[in-house]
Amino acid sequence: MLEEEEKSLFDKRFVCPCCKKEFKSKHVKSGGVKLDHTEFDLRPVYKGMDGLKYDVIFCHNCGYAALERYFNEIRPAQIKNIQEEVTSKYKKRDAIEGPYSYEYAVERYKIALYCTIRKVTTASEMGYVCLKLSWLLQNMADNMKKNPKEFKGATPEKIEELRKQADTYEVKSYNVMYKARMEEDFPICGMDEITFDYLVSALAYKAEKYDIASRLLSTVSSSREASDRLKNKAYDLKQMISKKVKEQKDGEEPLKP
Ligand SMILES: [Zn+2]
Repeated sequence: MLEEEEKSLFDKRFVCPCCKKEFKSKHVKSGGVKLDHTEFDLRPVYKGMDGLKYDVIFCHNCGYAALERYFNEIRPAQIKNIQEEVTSKYKKRDAIEGPYSYEYAVERYKIALYCTIRKVTTASEMGYVCLKLSWLLQNMADNMKKNPKEFKGATPEKIEELRKQADTYEVKSYNVMYKARMEEDFPICGMDEITFDYLVSALAYKAEKYDIASRLLSTVSSSREASDRLKNKAYDLKQMISKKVKEQKDGEEPLKP
């Protein structure tokens, strides 16, 4: 399967904004991935190769990593933070050739998350790294369940552990994305207001903040700009929220004799 992935990738050149070194990183060719569908939290599920694995750019020379969208968007003060907080402690390592395993892709995301915390950045960038890492872990868990032979140590416990980790990062993402919605101008993470409100509503649902999830969702449902696809998703999410709220209320009812 990884051998097949190679055909959909190419080496893209980058110049690291922190150490100025030129390097190559695996990149998905245009049309290289086939989207099967998106989940309620907008997680992309692919047919075949998982494009999420290649979204982090990592400079092996100095240790700086970020989502590609943000890789070059770094201010001088942030470069200084990376040099002091990341590069000074970084042990140089060789770039991995060939397609990435899920384990290696997760490692790259965790390095990017570390750099994102250290460089001090916007809430939305922080939230987007957590969200994409959560999506990646969820896709990894799904793939491990489907094709256990392609993974080392694919046990039900390992799959459960990956899902738990994914949930933790998704809830972290909710906390910062909610803040981003209050503080930042649209587009946020490349999303317009309606799409972003839908996303934050889905994240609020994951974080069990059902009142906030409903409130955000009502703006999506009543919007004239929302696409039918998004409105359908909003309708499904609304049912999911109602079910949870009902379960909560039922749980609160006093026991009948
Ligand atoms: Zn570098």
